[in-house]
Amino acid sequence: DDVISPLIPVVGGTTTVPLVDGTQVIYANLDYAASAPALEAVAARVTEVLPLYASVHRGAGYLSQVSTALYESSRQSIARFVGAREDDVAIITRNTTDSLNLLAGVVPAGGRVLVLDVEHHANLLPWVHSRPGQGHSATILPIARTVAETLQALADELARQPYALVTVTGASNVTGESLPLDRVIEIAHAEGARVAVDGAQLVPHRGFSLAESGADYVAFSGHKTYAPFGAGALVGRRDWLDAGTPYLAGGGAVRDVRTDRTVWQPAPARHEAGSPNVIGAIALAEACEQLAALPAGALHAHEQALRDRLVTGLSGIQGVEVARIWPDSDEPVGVVTFTVPDHDPGLVAAYLAAEHGIGVRDGRFCAHPLLAHLGATGGAIRASVGVGTTSEAVDRLVTALSAYLSAGARSTYEIVDGCWAV
Ligand code: PMP
Repeated sequence: DDVISPLIPVVGGTTTVPLVDGTQVIYANLDYAASAPALEAVAARVTEVLPLYASVHRGAGYLSQVSTALYESSRQSIARFVGAREDDVAIITRNTTDSLNLLAGVVPAGGRVLVLDVEHHANLLPWVHSRPGQGHSATILPIARTVAETLQALADELARQPYALVTVTGASNVTGESLPLDRVIEIAHAEGARVAVDGAQLVPHRGFSLAESGADYVAFSGHKTYAPFGAGALVGRRDWLDAGTPYLAGGGAVRDVRTDRTVWQPAPARHEAGSPNVIGAIALAEACEQLAALPAGALHAHEQALRDRLVTGLSGIQGVEVARIWPDSDEPVGVVTFTVPDHDPGLVAAYLAAEHGIGVRDGRFCAHPLLAHLGATGGAIRASVGVGTTSEAVDRLVTALSAYLSAGARSTYEIVDGCWAV
């Protein structure tokens, strides 16, 4: 923990929240998989660059020149953070959902896309519901019982018919698990298919390199990578991105416009029409630089210890079941989903927040097919960790949950407009 201690989230540490009895308690943030708090260094960087705020790319003024340089160097930091190759292009998007929808729009006409039903809706729906003008079609492969069987099913399907793209999660937002990416990439490439990685849960926690892995695309979100909301990225092979239909039509994406024809820019400008989120990109780049400066494996070790502690604690509580997709998957990232049979997950989560100041998430986590596969159509509870998570927060969750169950189901909470109320 000493190694990662220079990274300080702005929320956490001393942030207090009110309990239902009116007292204040230090917030136990166990919801990093939804959004991670910005780092102090990121907040400082935003404060530093805010006075330089000016339009990018088209302004001749000094501040426009500075903002343009900062925006473009942010693109480079973001690309470097995910190990972009020389020919790769980094497009600044709003988030992972935006990135994957963008990619769905540039798959060459007629291309087939293979996706597993473990995916977050962001890596499922853009492939299944193609928009007018998009030429791809998608096959959804059902989850098999083991990783080995799932890889075999993937290989069989790829051998059965040609695919343009296999798109796969780097780490599940429900269980933290993943297929071994090196094997997926090897199998897909052997059959001539490219591989896109939904890096939303992988990139901020384990790091990821396009060059080292050989993957073709990666998508991730700033707000899960210790930067504020509003910026994300799609990084990968240039050819589809240069040739594909521009994601948005408008200023900045074009080279020349006449009333009867439009000449589009190549990527990245081609897909970044409109005034970009300059501050968001700078913030995300700063978060990437901060994470990249950590010694290799330090964050992974910190999160792994917390995850192990959480799983051991939860497994010791009668009735609590920790969800796993595959018994033979590699070490998951720091995301743990569990069910408490016969208890409404929303009410358990409300109790944890209202009486113990613990922030977890409940529901179906935008992964309805996976939750159905796990037998949790009524939802589950998810705890997730990151920079700034303490073992005290993990222990508080385990103790609170034990107390809840030993005291029997409480009916003093209800959910009103998505929030708990007594
Ligand atoms: N993929 C995964 C694995 C995720 O966890 C999430 C966010 N929960 C997304 C995609 C979508 O990210 P965003 O909401 O930032 O677009």
